[in-house]
Amino acid sequence: MNTSNTFFGHPIGLRTLFLTEMWERMSYYGMRALLVLYMTGAVTGFNPGLGWSQVESQAIYGIYSGMVYFMVVPGGWIADNILGHQKAVLIGALIIALGHFTLAIPIEQTFFLGLIFVVLGTGLLKGNISTIVGQLYDGQDDRRDSGYTIFYMSINIGSTLGFLICSYLGEKIGWHWGFGAAGIGMTFGVIQYIQHRHLLGDAGMHPNDMSDEKRKKYSNYLKFSLVAMFMVIGAGLFGFIVIDPRFFAEQFAYFLTIVAGLYFLYLFLFAGLNASERKNLILLFLLFIGAAAFWSGFDQSAGSLNIFARDYTDLSISGYQIPVGWLQFANPIIVVLFAPIFAGIWAQLARKNLDPSLPLKFAIGLLFMALSFFVMILAVNLAIESSPVGMQWLLLTYLFQTWGELALSPIGLSAFSRYGPKRYMGQMFGLWFLASAIGGVLAGLLGGEALDGGLETISPIFEFMIQYYLVIAIALIVLSFVIKTAKD
Ligand code: GLN
Repeated sequence: MNTSNTFFGHPIGLRTLFLTEMWERMSYYGMRALLVLYMTGAVTGFNPGLGWSQVESQAIYGIYSGMVYFMVVPGGWIADNILGHQKAVLIGALIIALGHFTLAIPIEQTFFLGLIFVVLGTGLLKGNISTIVGQLYDGQDDRRDSGYTIFYMSINIGSTLGFLICSYLGEKIGWHWGFGAAGIGMTFGVIQYIQHRHLLGDAGMHPNDMSDEKRKKYSNYLKFSLVAMFMVIGAGLFGFIVIDPRFFAEQFAYFLTIVAGLYFLYLFLFAGLNASERKNLILLFLLFIGAAAFWSGFDQSAGSLNIFARDYTDLSISGYQIPVGWLQFANPIIVVLFAPIFAGIWAQLARKNLDPSLPLKFAIGLLFMALSFFVMILAVNLAIESSPVGMQWLLLTYLFQTWGELALSPIGLSAFSRYGPKRYMGQMFGLWFLASAIGGVLAGLLGGEALDGGLETISPIFEFMIQYYLVIAIALIVLSFVIKTAKD
């Protein structure tokens, strides 16, 4: 192998994917940090928002987050069967950029259209780019896991850039400047992907082998679904169908849960798995529940916690009022600082044969999440006495959430690829992101309930969340003694 042409000792194609994902996440998190602030912002003033209610806006945020990750499932199918992963990423990136530029148009009418483009584009990009990372390595290449770790860094560098640039422009100059900046970021991603795509070689180039006839049939299904989808979207946008966001979010949460449940059931009963594959599937099912619960708290950062930052937190540093979204820096910066420490701790424990099992790590993630909301309850109580409170409360909350993320997220991604049934490998990323989808929509619903009555209604919802984190964490700890098959 030519070592001069590598990226931190990895195939050079990883650099192309790293930069593409970095710009995509810059645009995703940068725009997301503005979303509820824009929707709930006052309609008057120098930077008018849409003036929508908290319940409505948080529900829309939840539907958006849920849709983004749900679309990874059809996005994976399209790449596997029709486009190939490389082309899917390119088309996805272009649609995302189009979405952000649509949001940059300073009128209310194109708002939902912009969000829909971002959802569809991310569905084509997010899971497929993760799949190509894996394909850069031969079957037994043990650099794959560290390749994913480097890739996870690009996510966090991207989101740091997004919070920095989009929050500043969106909040201090005008919302649509922030959305436009996200579009420009994604455009940089598109340009570098086009320039350096050849470095990926054959990885993710070709869709699955099948007869021309079958591929044509699949393409027709796709065209038909797209036409049907745009008819429904058009009917919604032109007001022929009126959608109540909270009702829709609730139904969507049920829908996602049923889809995930049926899929697990199908795999368990009808996929012809052997006994050990079935055992691993039960393990993945438990991890799935843990992950969905985890993301329902994690995604409050751009939802209810963003509003807490805006309305009840003192954001001035030496007289300068920082943009609300800048507090979310804490997450990616802590990931970058602590990822090597967490990896070191697991390695150290592994040497002593004490490495926690996967369910135990997920339980640790959930316990940190519970702790973070305990900190928030203290902050809310303080704010009820005298608002605003210092920003250390949110920073401490994000510290615990990020420690939780490090115990759960990178490990979850590799667990699904390692322990999923081999013949269904292509769909495992989709399944993993389905947990994020459920978490996202729940985050919007819970965030809306929490903020419905100002400060007073926040603590009961956060207490409820702490309770379910604890119940699931304890269940995972108990089951970790029972299910001993798969060790990380
Ligand atoms: N922060 C990670 C990313 O953006 C994981 C997010 C998620 O799965 N909900 O890729």
